[in-house]
Amino acid sequence: MKTLYLLPILAVLISCNSQPTPEPTKTEPTEKRQSAYALVIHGGAGTILKKNMTPELEQAYTAKMNEALDIGEEILKGGGSSQEAVVAVIQLMENSPLFNAGKGAVFTNQGTNEMDASIMDGNTLNAGAVGGVTNIQNPITAALAVMEQSDHVFMVGKGAEAFAKLNGCQTVDPSYFRTERRWNSLQRIKEKEAKEAKKNLTELSESKHGTVGAVALDKDGNITAGTSTGGMTNKRYNRVGDSPIIGAGTYADNETCGVSCTGHGEYFIRYAVAYDVSAAMRHGNKDLNTAAQEVIHGRMKDAGGTGGLIALDKKGNISMPFNTAGMYRGYVTDNERVVRIYGD
Ligand code: ASP
Repeated sequence: MKTLYLLPILAVLISCNSQPTPEPTKTEPTEKRQSAYALVIHGGAGTILKKNMTPELEQAYTAKMNEALDIGEEILKGGGSSQEAVVAVIQLMENSPLFNAGKGAVFTNQGTNEMDASIMDGNTLNAGAVGGVTNIQNPITAALAVMEQSDHVFMVGKGAEAFAKLNGCQTVDPSYFRTERRWNSLQRIKEKEAKEAKKNLTELSESKHGTVGAVALDKDGNITAGTSTGGMTNKRYNRVGDSPIIGAGTYADNETCGVSCTGHGEYFIRYAVAYDVSAAMRHGNKDLNTAAQEVIHGRMKDAGGTGGLIALDKKGNISMPFNTAGMYRGYVTDNERVVRIYGD
């Protein structure tokens, strides 16, 4: 069946070869809107407080999110597909050291970078994902290759790397992913671990979950969702979070919605967060925002799960709930653009 999709195969070849607090409860006001296209992005959720941010850093995050929205909007406005938009936007964010994905990915306990990514096509319910890759410049392109070039959904480790390379994804020396900021975070958490004699202390990137994600709706009514991450600082034993797990970190179904999550992955896996939003719409007849808010502020949060998600439905309605102090987030439709960081 997948061999019928010649255009997406071309697209993957092109994209693979391209260079490149204590529980505050915040919600995003979401009104009904209709739009020919829509794009929503996140750059991670967590203890993101204005008092801890320098004006320069705030400006850098805002500029990068606007750049991501510009790139995606240009594709969608020109009649491009939601898949193209999601891959281009995530690649751009992966290439920025600001986010915990691609360049800027956090370090494992062993001082390596292991990245996870996934993508889902809401039209076909086709999906692709990679886990624990260490030398793919843009892990989202490897997830796309799995979706378009294989009969499988999820590949991990060396096999995923070999497959991605074979299918034209750009590989790099693992040292490409090293940034001082993330290296220092690992040293800090290791010191804390030693001092507190704690075993297996992991951290969501300096209390900021810097994962990136994008969900787009194109003019043809197709929804694509994608997510990319370095996971959690100091992770061990090839730990994999929710980001590459279809139904947990990412989900898309043209009949309901597209979702990309960020937060404490173990909870997002156990509560099947991304799929739960879609299921509440499909089986519970909830509207997008009600479904998304209930999932993020419901029993997952009661159990201790922190994070947020971005979602859109086929009409271009958008929801961006989070149960942390902040979430890097933004959206663009044919009549509106919003970029926000804090819980305001
Ligand atoms: N959800 C990611 C994970 O648990 C981390 C994040 O979103 O920051 O791997």
